[in-house]
Amino acid sequence: MLKKIDSANEFLKNNSDLFECPWCHARFDHDFRHKSLRCDNGHVFDLSSKGTLYFLKRAVRTKYDREMFTSRREMIRSGMYRPLIDRIQQYVEANALEQSLLLDLGSGEGSFLQEMSATFPGRRIGLDISKDGIYMSSDHRSDDLFWCVADLTNLPFADRKFDVALNILSPVHYDEIFRVLKPGAPLIKVIPSSGYLRELREALYDDEKKNYSNELVMHRLSDECAIREKTRVSYVFELPEIARHHLSAMTPLEWSARAARLDDLRKNPLSRITIDVEVSVCLPQRKGQPRQNRLAERSPGAHDV
Ligand SMILES: [Zn+2]
Repeated sequence: MLKKIDSANEFLKNNSDLFECPWCHARFDHDFRHKSLRCDNGHVFDLSSKGTLYFLKRAVRTKYDREMFTSRREMIRSGMYRPLIDRIQQYVEANALEQSLLLDLGSGEGSFLQEMSATFPGRRIGLDISKDGIYMSSDHRSDDLFWCVADLTNLPFADRKFDVALNILSPVHYDEIFRVLKPGAPLIKVIPSSGYLRELREALYDDEKKNYSNELVMHRLSDECAIREKTRVSYVFELPEIARHHLSAMTPLEWSARAARLDDLRKNPLSRITIDVEVSVCLPQRKGQPRQNRLAERSPGAHDV
């Protein structure tokens, strides 16, 4: 088996046309020998030893660290999101999108994309702003799978390249997504609904943080996109004992919880949890805007995983 860096270099050899310099927006040439992308203006991006590319100008501080991503990985592997993944799979099959070139925006540590490898056997790129998350993602290996660290507001891709975009429980920048999607290609966006992780909120908080509304996020979504399909996926998941202690550690919810509440939860972990999300299939509402420095959507819901 090739080393991670060498299989990623093979991917770039065949797919360098997908990428575009995020600093000056020029096209890239792939330098096979030096395992890097070089733009027409001389900006160079080298593959890391893990076979990932790093497109940020400077490191971004994030509380989404390796420990949190490890918990998130355990929860996804436990099957907690299986009905959600099945719903996306149904849509993909109904629309014959299996061989699509797929972009996962806010891919975290990569487990959602990995869980969907049977659904999308074609080329897939996962992107996240967290280097820890992308390094962990590189454990998921396939010749058609590629991972990079980049800014959602300034994607390192050329216009109109992708067939489908996924954005699962993560912030998004609509103009940038629709710039890199082919005309008519869908964005599949998953947003938490009011019952999402209800038992965890109730265990950690007494005040208004117990409740969550996705009204603002949904409002923004319908402003920015033409929503073609919308399905609420809601169920209670029985947590396997081995996964229970990972539940609160996988979300930012515990960051602002009182220590006593966290202690109680660690002594008596939850045995079941509600998953309640909205899956929307979206097309752009208006013609793509030119690139500029725009702020990503930031909302409480966007940070729930
Ligand atoms: Zn450049």
